[in-house]
Amino acid sequence: MERTLSIVKPDGVGANLIGEVLRRFEENGISVVALRMIHLSKKQAEGFYHVHRERPFFGSLTDFMSSGPCVVMVLEGEEAISRVRAIMGATNPEEADPGTIRKDFASGIEKNIVHGSDSPESAAYEIGYFFNQLEINSR
Ligand code: GDP
Repeated sequence: MERTLSIVKPDGVGANLIGEVLRRFEENGISVVALRMIHLSKKQAEGFYHVHRERPFFGSLTDFMSSGPCVVMVLEGEEAISRVRAIMGATNPEEADPGTIRKDFASGIEKNIVHGSDSPESAAYEIGYFFNQLEINSR
């Protein structure tokens, strides 16, 4: 069993896609074990995406991520990290496979509906950024 951190980003929440994103994970055997809605401050968004702080899009990305509420969740399942990313699709929706969340709903490379941790190390950091042990209800 593996855990990963996923986010329905402000564009996904704004488009009423919370249920659609959850459905796509759950129908693939990925379980939600913690979940919360949160409106990140700019500082909190910067802390979450600190690995990208030198990238040219960091200011724009953290403005977007703090522009409205997100749904943050811990997901659990066999190979959850890679499977969640496969369900999400490529960062750029133009390069995403058909049937992925980003191909179906993302409006661009930045406003791409959903986040999923990309490695065990980032999953550990990202889960701990939002949730403590008592809030995670392992199956
Ligand atoms: P992810 O793991 O697929 O989410 O992609 P990355 O870790 O590379 O980037 C994190 C987030 O930054 C992406 O999901 C996008 O929201 C945003 N992003 C990535 N690349 C770009 C870019 O070239 N331009 C802009 N404006 N945003 C980007």
